[in-house]
Amino acid sequence: MIVDLRSDTLTKPCSVMRTVMAKAEVGDDVFGEDPTVCELESYLAELAGHEAGLFCASGTQSNLVALLSHCQRGDEYIVGQNAHTYRYEAGGAAVLGSIQPQPLEHESDGSICLHKIQASIKADDFHFAKSRLLALENTIGGKVLPMSYLRQAKTLATSNNLQFHLDGARVFNAAVAINKPVSEITGLFDSVSICLSKGLGCPVGSVLVGTRDLIEEARRWRKMVGGGMRQAGMLAAAGLYALKNNVASLKNDHERAQVIASSICDIPGLSVRDGGAQTNMIFLEVDPERSDLFLKACKEQGVLFTGHGILRLVVHRDIDDQGVTHAVNIISSNASKLL
Ligand SMILES: *Cc1c(COP(=O)(O)O)cnc(C)c1O
Repeated sequence: MIVDLRSDTLTKPCSVMRTVMAKAEVGDDVFGEDPTVCELESYLAELAGHEAGLFCASGTQSNLVALLSHCQRGDEYIVGQNAHTYRYEAGGAAVLGSIQPQPLEHESDGSICLHKIQASIKADDFHFAKSRLLALENTIGGKVLPMSYLRQAKTLATSNNLQFHLDGARVFNAAVAINKPVSEITGLFDSVSICLSKGLGCPVGSVLVGTRDLIEEARRWRKMVGGGMRQAGMLAAAGLYALKNNVASLKNDHERAQVIASSICDIPGLSVRDGGAQTNMIFLEVDPERSDLFLKACKEQGVLFTGHGILRLVVHRDIDDQGVTHAVNIISSNASKLL
């Protein structure tokens, strides 16, 4: 039995999703003629409380075209030191947009201190880059940013004339965790990038939502970076299916993550960060010198996860209760032998 907890991107489309994809009505989306892509874009835009949407090849592309649309060459965006956009997207905004990042440390809850954000905003002075945008991520490292924090951050952005972008790759996990409609979170932002290819179970795709003007600008950038896909309705159909069928069940992933966390938290030699899981991720801290051996032993027995010293386990819709039990057993037995 293989229990693959390396990422929620590992989900495979279920058979119903595959059928829906095969039957999708399609057209050339670069001509604006793919009805299924258009439907996905407007469906998710409305769900998220925005005017328009843009189907993108990936979350990286969706974040990139958002930044390129909000910012000009020589502008700056304020972002978390561990934010995906800053750390894990090959520096695209800087490389392709000449947009300077201003990374800031995170607090332990994943937020960025509002005072530090305020202090990092640059005066209008030709020595400085122009502070143009604040980018947050939610969930971040499996944590849900508090609504009160998001509202304060929005006020700060607005009063300083900053655009406000959310990397909402897993924003549905956040919404499900706080039991609110996703629009309560996404509606606060000028733009939001949402991944379909993670816990929602689609093979490919992300959607950027925002104002009609912003999305038209983003459409040009998407073309430029090679994201003008043709009969993409087959992929968009998976997205529509996922949004209508796979959101509520994210709760199961969160519950299963918590079951794993609470079943292994008392094992000597490892500690579960924050005592558990807020959404679908668990982080374990182990002795870095024994970490690789532990990881390898678990892998040989079919339980896969990643990291070194700090290990990340991600629960997703292809992990069932049997998988949870298997993972707990293998982790427990290897921990007592090796840690
Ligand atoms: C996965 C992820 C992305 C990028 O998505 P890709 O589709 O892998 O390019 C962006 N932000 C966050 C927080 C992510 O987890």
